[in-house]
Amino acid sequence: MFNINNIVRENIKVLTPYSSARDEFKGNEGVFLDANENPFNNPYNRYPDPLQREVKEKLASIKGVRPEQIFFGNGSDEAIDLLMRAFCEPHRDNIISIHPSYGMYQVAADINAVEFVKVPLNEDFTLNAGAIRSAVNANTKLIMLCSPNNPTANSFSLNEMLTLADGFDGLLVVDEAYIDFSALPSLVSELDNHPNLVILQTFSKAWGLAGLRMGIAYASEEIISILNKIKYPYNVNIMTQKLVLDALEDVDEKEEWVKEILGQRQFLIEAFQNMPLIQKIYPTDANFILVKVPDAKAAYDHLIEQKIIIRDRSKVAMCEGCLRITVGTETENKALIKALKKFDK
Ligand SMILES: *Cc1c(COP(=O)(O)O)cnc(C)c1O
Repeated sequence: MFNINNIVRENIKVLTPYSSARDEFKGNEGVFLDANENPFNNPYNRYPDPLQREVKEKLASIKGVRPEQIFFGNGSDEAIDLLMRAFCEPHRDNIISIHPSYGMYQVAADINAVEFVKVPLNEDFTLNAGAIRSAVNANTKLIMLCSPNNPTANSFSLNEMLTLADGFDGLLVVDEAYIDFSALPSLVSELDNHPNLVILQTFSKAWGLAGLRMGIAYASEEIISILNKIKYPYNVNIMTQKLVLDALEDVDEKEEWVKEILGQRQFLIEAFQNMPLIQKIYPTDANFILVKVPDAKAAYDHLIEQKIIIRDRSKVAMCEGCLRITVGTETENKALIKALKKFDK
């Protein structure tokens, strides 16, 4: 049975978190002489709300969750790092992740001196849930999945992921950075049925706000309160909070962008189908396409010469010969196709 008290690190369990001036007094109006701020240069003179309450209220209403089930970080990368720091004892515990997947999981594990166990996906990039279950031992605290997965672009079966969660005493983390581009729904609606589920999302992709650095973790109130306890008090600055709140006021604009990107994704797929250079187009549920070519490095270099930058993933195990191409604007995609056709000849 999953019990959060069995997996929180001992030092985190007993930690007295830093209490900031703004934690103690929650109002917006008044004479603020509590935080040694400069009284001039409003509004940048003020520390931001450490718990980003307004943004959480708004996002919670859009996503159908409670504000207390939301954690905001300086990018998803902060949430990934904090999950490891809260639950994984260095030099003792381990994390299981799939391979190939997002490179930050291993980097964060290495920084935290937590063993990183890679379980390969099946040949067709589907989840090998049996192999993941076999890899779990008493020191496994997190299973990290990514769906739709980067760089393979496919989604995993929702049932398979939820079954993995239910049979596991640690946390099942599902990174949904690309969920807005997916034909499958988010697992956020399953949070109340699975107490050990953590969902990561971000404002960096569909919302078009990578420069602001705002990542999201959704989980039970218990799990979120642990992340809040160990985060830097003012981890999300006031400009980011304000601009993300503005973006949340206009969900339609994000939906328009997603629609346009999905149309362009289809346009690129059809163009690739007519190119002898491209040997394989992998199914995609994301805003990028993984393709196989005979000489990935040569194709990559050719595009660089035309000032078109894509990602060469050919050195990643199971992605030999593969290029990862982000869907751009119509103009950008046409420039890519034109340049690839020149290379074809
Ligand atoms: C792009 C991406 C993210 C986003 O990270 P941020 O730190 O929020 O910008 C997260 N996970 C995956 C798999 C990604 O590809």
